[in-house]
Amino acid sequence: MIAPFKATSYAFTPFDTARNFIAGEWCDPLTSKASQDVINPRHGKSMAKVLMGGRDDVDAAVTAARAAFNDWRRVPIRDRAHVFYKLRELMHKNIDELAWLVSHENGKTFGESKAEVEKSIECAEYGCSLPNLAEGGGLEVSRGVTCEVVYEPLGVVAGVVPFNFPIMVPFWMIPQALVGGNTFVLKPSERVPLTTLRLAELLREAGLPKGVFNIVQGGKEVVEALCDHEHIKAFGFVGSTKVAKAVYGRASTAGKRALCLGGAKNHLIVVPDADVAVTADNVVASFMGCAGQRCMAASVLVAVGNVDHIISAVVERAAKISTGTDMGPVTTEAAQQRIVAYIDGAEKLGAKVLLDGRGADGGAGGYWVGPTILDQVDPSMPAGCEEIFGPVLSIVRVPNLERAIELENASPYGNAACIYTTSGDVARRVMGAVEAGMCGVNVGVPVPREPYGFGGWNDSAFGAGNITGWDGYRFWTRQRKITTKWSLQKDQNWMS
Ligand code: NAD
Repeated sequence: MIAPFKATSYAFTPFDTARNFIAGEWCDPLTSKASQDVINPRHGKSMAKVLMGGRDDVDAAVTAARAAFNDWRRVPIRDRAHVFYKLRELMHKNIDELAWLVSHENGKTFGESKAEVEKSIECAEYGCSLPNLAEGGGLEVSRGVTCEVVYEPLGVVAGVVPFNFPIMVPFWMIPQALVGGNTFVLKPSERVPLTTLRLAELLREAGLPKGVFNIVQGGKEVVEALCDHEHIKAFGFVGSTKVAKAVYGRASTAGKRALCLGGAKNHLIVVPDADVAVTADNVVASFMGCAGQRCMAASVLVAVGNVDHIISAVVERAAKISTGTDMGPVTTEAAQQRIVAYIDGAEKLGAKVLLDGRGADGGAGGYWVGPTILDQVDPSMPAGCEEIFGPVLSIVRVPNLERAIELENASPYGNAACIYTTSGDVARRVMGAVEAGMCGVNVGVPVPREPYGFGGWNDSAFGAGNITGWDGYRFWTRQRKITTKWSLQKDQNWMS
């Protein structure tokens, strides 16, 4: 039993050890003795330990999930979805506790954390709606002959998730996979394994049978074991591009269906006719929200022509952000150093620092970087083309819209791209040309809300389709096609 998390403020609060959750029970790794601290980034202090599992723990989880599969797949879809109705209620009841957990282990503010839990609830609601959506289809295709499609589960499936959304990213996978009739093995990020401990408890309280949802804690070794395991049929991954590409190759080679989402370098194009207040508020919220640690965060502001009046408003707005209250810390000391190195490097290469977040202080011990705006960035500079994953906005100046689109298209990533304009024509031209899976018009974080699917293009995603929405259901299920002929007309074969 995992005790509820007691925090009601940012004051440092310790929590339970993160163990494996297998066949409905909490257990220590079978042989591995490795452990790692779970650091609260606001305090730079360990709030718990995570016991790092290994290959044998993956095997134990898969054995439990296989044992549970035959019963779970036979539970009618409506009853499988009812678990998510109950879970939804439990999440609402415990929303502050879940939000404080996210906030403490990840560092984001309580408000941002609560929004993350609310978005997770929205994903659970999509799971609740699946019995009304997943009806398949049937048609009389020839006289007396019908074809129908039935969505069937795959078996045991696995998900591996990153540190930046400890509960929401698991919710991109779990509702569709479980309502679809699969049993699941989750590997949380070893940096933020705590919120999913409470999730496991809530799923149990919501009536999920033992072994349907399992957790194996750990890092690379566990991920590779999940990729390789012969009895795991599908593999979902969200993380950095380098790892996404490697695990996509490994899981696919092992014969699995795989969908692996990677990193991003999102371009926001601003033209002179953009609304100043809307653009400034939106751009700032996009690049500094969650301390810039979002795969949908603004990273490059592509300034088309003279938009200095808008840039001034962006700088003015961002300068009012207070680290510690409006904005949380970044995830680790290494991340803080990496982000500062990008800023130092850009400055050395000739970029102008319009707003400097180096040396920001949000409280003793925390890993702080304040909102930072760099102007005159060249796209060839590391700050202009690499994922920084921190609250840094790089401004690249271009003379016209064509050059802005070219610049966006030159990035190997393809997660998000936005245009700020009051011209329908400009918006339409950009929306028809950018190389990005999720696009915004005057929207800085264009995350498709349920039921629309989430997924990028190019080096931001490996595998077909989106991870949420209907694509998600299709990813975690397979289609059985049944052709039936009961009226046995002698004068016709089934094709006629
Ligand atoms: P990460 O790639 O370091 O880790 C992600 C997961 O992979 C973790 O569970 C980790 O334990 C595991 N892992 C790490 N190294 C591994 C290796 N060498 N082999 C196998 N597994 C390994 O990512 P992160 O730092 O946790 O998260 C930040 C990254 O995730 C950013 O690049 C961000 O853009 C990306 N992200 C993408 C999306 C999206 O939807 N495209 C969403 C959220 C985050």
